[in-house]
Amino acid sequence: MQRIHDIYRPTDERKCDWREVERMLSDEELKEQTSRCMNCGQPFCHAYGCPLGNFVPDQNRAVAQGDWKRAYALLTVNSDFPEFTSRICPALCEASCVHQLDEESVMVRQSEKRIIETAFENGWVVPRPPEKENGKSVAVIGAGPAGLSAAVTLRRRGWSVTVYERRANIGGLLRYGIPCFKLDKSLIDRRRAILEAEGIRFVTGIEVGKDLSAEWLAKHNDAVIVAIGTPAARDLKIPGRELAGIHLALELLEGQNRFLTGEISAPPISAKGKDVLVIGGGDTGSDCVGTAIRHGAKSVTQIEIMPKPPDERGASTPWPLWPYMLRTSSSHKEGCERRWNLNSLRFVESDSPTTSHEPRTTDHEPHVSGVEVETVEWEFSPEGRPVKFHAVPDTREIIKADLVFLAMGFTGVPAENPIVAQLGLTQTPRTALISDSSKNIFCVGDCASGASLVVRALASGKDIPLQ
Ligand SMILES: Cc1cc2nc3c(=O)[nH]c(=O)nc-3n(C[C@H](O)[C@H](O)[C@H](O)COP(=O)(O)OP(=O)(O)OC[C@H]3O[C@@H](n4cnc5c(N)ncnc54)[C@H](O)[C@@H]3O)c2cc1C
Repeated sequence: MQRIHDIYRPTDERKCDWREVERMLSDEELKEQTSRCMNCGQPFCHAYGCPLGNFVPDQNRAVAQGDWKRAYALLTVNSDFPEFTSRICPALCEASCVHQLDEESVMVRQSEKRIIETAFENGWVVPRPPEKENGKSVAVIGAGPAGLSAAVTLRRRGWSVTVYERRANIGGLLRYGIPCFKLDKSLIDRRRAILEAEGIRFVTGIEVGKDLSAEWLAKHNDAVIVAIGTPAARDLKIPGRELAGIHLALELLEGQNRFLTGEISAPPISAKGKDVLVIGGGDTGSDCVGTAIRHGAKSVTQIEIMPKPPDERGASTPWPLWPYMLRTSSSHKEGCERRWNLNSLRFVESDSPTTSHEPRTTDHEPHVSGVEVETVEWEFSPEGRPVKFHAVPDTREIIKADLVFLAMGFTGVPAENPIVAQLGLTQTPRTALISDSSKNIFCVGDCASGASLVVRALASGKDIPLQ
């Protein structure tokens, strides 16, 4: 029996709406898939792959036997938010599945989705307030996955928990970054109701450091958890950056999510009828691709300075490591040109009216019409990792674009963030925040590790040495 590859709704259907792109596999499909699990003596999925340490083989066996209640009980020993990870986790467990040595891994993520949704349908997901209050209070700064995970963990230990969030709603990048077509935002609302019933308080629309001092929070609580993510996106400071039509990826993604959840009345950016260029070949770029396609872009191109990864697991990342290899997302399959080995040199100004179906904000605003790029060649390490590039002569060309999104990652927490000084925090050379356990201040998630994954943020939020 093979792994099922047909996991998406039909392309023509899904690219016309904002609903989740993945279909729900049936009980029968999942029973068959989980029965492929070999229940390995040394389960790398559980002990090595999953940052939460989920009991994957036991969970698989419960699903294969149709015992969904037991599967739910096993899943939630370590996982407090399976409805999120089961939709957007790259499934590190599957990459370390022993089946990867000879065939394809067991489908763990999709079975997790079915387990948690079955649990919600049957009313098994109920608030679990602490049996006893411990009389201590903690302030959590930031309501992304790391902050939520820390909040639920400490609440279960009896702490009084207040989460402060600068945005209008909770979820962090789950709500404001990841598109609705990957993660429906009603799932965050559904979880919020449970967290509140457990006694967690949310104070939204408050930016700690500005509206409320972090020092004050430290003084009036027994502990502070800093879970503020990595707010600074990497920019591309090449000539022409000031032209209209060039945006950071999150301007598009956040605006679209806020629009779809009713926070604002119109999306701030529309790609309708435009030639869209996404600079940056990773997941954030792929999310821009899917969003631009749903807007009705005329064309979507995604470029990357790095070389095209191998189609199969590369030699530099043997099993059970997370594989360096080409990843093609559902958004890519919806219609996008992808190119690699391209260095962006300058943005080109439009000297003619934009091709957009929409009028410009002002007649005279200098607007982007393309990006001049140059092909590069990479030198590789003996393990096959790209290490250094040089330009290939006479390969300059202009890629036409009247809307450009920069999706080149995040740069950590700026030292000027007032929370750093107010709590007296130190930072690593890469600007990650360092916990100060002597003052009961713990930094978790992306702000402590650098931009990473939801599952790692969740694991980090659970890993707080406070009783
Ligand atoms: C576009 C995009 C798509 C992604 N897709 C995936 C994916 O598919 N799968 C995956 O695993 N990972 C994905 N990631 C990465 C993942 O979203 C992050 O690793 C994860 O959200 C980090 O969690 P966090 O809680 O540390 O930070 P965040 O999610 O960034 O949350 C930080 C929170 O702190 C709040 N905050 C910041 N400063 C303050 C302040 N001063 N006062 C109060 N509140 C504050 C912010 O508003 C935010 O709500 C994606 C990231 C992006 C940008």
